[in-house]
Amino acid sequence: MTAFDYDLFVIGGGSGGVRAARLAGSLGKRVAIAEEYRFGGTCVIRGCVPKKLFVYASQFPEHFEDAAGFGWQVGEASFDWKKLVAAKDREISRLEGLYRRGLENAGTEILESRAELVDAHTIRLVKTGQTVTAERILIATGGSANPHAALPGHELCITSNEAFDLPELPRSILIAGGGYIAVEFANIFHGLGVDTTLIYRGKEILSRFDSDMRQGLHKAMEEKGIRIILTDVIQEVQKAPAGGLIARTLEGQRLAVDAVMLALGRDPNTQGLGLEAAGVAVDEKGAIVVDDYSRTSVAHIHALGDVTDRVQLTPVAIHEAMCFIETEFRNNPTKPDHDLIATAVFSQPEIGTVGLSEEAACRKYPEIEVYRAEFRPMKATLSGRSEKMIMKLIVDAASRKVVGAHILGHDAGEMAQLLGITLKAGCTKDDFDRTMAVHPTAAEELVTMYQPSYRVRDGERI
Ligand code: NDP
Repeated sequence: MTAFDYDLFVIGGGSGGVRAARLAGSLGKRVAIAEEYRFGGTCVIRGCVPKKLFVYASQFPEHFEDAAGFGWQVGEASFDWKKLVAAKDREISRLEGLYRRGLENAGTEILESRAELVDAHTIRLVKTGQTVTAERILIATGGSANPHAALPGHELCITSNEAFDLPELPRSILIAGGGYIAVEFANIFHGLGVDTTLIYRGKEILSRFDSDMRQGLHKAMEEKGIRIILTDVIQEVQKAPAGGLIARTLEGQRLAVDAVMLALGRDPNTQGLGLEAAGVAVDEKGAIVVDDYSRTSVAHIHALGDVTDRVQLTPVAIHEAMCFIETEFRNNPTKPDHDLIATAVFSQPEIGTVGLSEEAACRKYPEIEVYRAEFRPMKATLSGRSEKMIMKLIVDAASRKVVGAHILGHDAGEMAQLLGITLKAGCTKDDFDRTMAVHPTAAEELVTMYQPSYRVRDGERI
């Protein structure tokens, strides 16, 4: 028995914190976890999960339209925003309950309070003022939407937090940003019938993705009726005298909309946590600095997930938590592996991707082969929808390894998960070629692109 109240104190009940607390508890450690809001964190409460539910909701108008090509006549459809929000709330409460039950079953003490560090071993529970001590501390407080405080009128805008619970569905919305959240919500709102405009400062949306994915999605979104403004930013947001908002842009546009949503990245939640008092170092963005084992500048304090600003993804936080437990409680030092993370953008069409974009691969390898297919998916033949699917494999010519795989189209996220295994396993293009196709699927294209579409040597297409 140590002199501390707990073997492990976890601050933050999101994906990473809950996983670590649960695993440590099930190992018989004395564990407490503090959460100031709701268990489940951003992903469950106001991120990935409600977002995906809203994506499903927003896809129905296209399903109704497509049905006609298959002989169905669908009557007049109507949509009830409040019903969707209520159904989403019920599902989230159910999931939150599962998170709590998992912690309880592992013997973890649940503390519904904000927790702040007093010193390197002492934590204060803000709700009661009580202080407790712990041998090890894990900080997993996540991140929050960048409020863009420098923007005049930013307080009139919403972020993804509010977007999930708007009292009414706006008739029109302007979304700022060109990343995951901006693109996903532009498609959600458009699908639900909202007149949607996206404004992004760069030359093309989704700056870190493969150019074919970026351009292909841009085209598909515009064809659906989403307006995309590039190389421009909002300069000011004001209330319009007749209701709604007016956004003025740097390039002189004046946009009258019901709502403005900012999706300009997420900041680490480190404000007021007492990190200085505990001696925990942060970087210039306020993210907690950690080593390869998620250890902070104080050896017995660890941090993981979005608060460390490594890769802001739920599965990454969970993986980091499992590595933390292996290292600290199972005597098996394990570094989180951040290489070749498959991800999806739940836009419409979806993007699924793993590995290097063509542009990044060109910078890394002297010669690459690009296998590219663009085609109309089978369902579109009868539905009449013009949307195209794009599949792309990037191969290092010297080793024949597939170093990047990118898909734009239905179920791209599902396919990206499986492609993630092949890239992780180091599969070569020859492994893809000798794999039998599953017919008729869209994914069979991935194993039937036998000839390169083009090669790029020293940055030049040949
Ligand atoms: P992203 O980092 O994806 O995108 C932020 C966007 O905001 C970029 O387009 C960026 O431009 C732009 N931006 C940043 N600051 C400014 C500014 N001052 N003025 C104008 N534009 C600005 O962040 P998101 O907020 O979309 O999402 C946060 C994180 O959450 C993501 O990084 C992702 O890891 C995760 N996420 C994952 C999802 C998934 O897996 N499907 C879904 C949603 C979120 P530029 O590109 O030029 O820097």
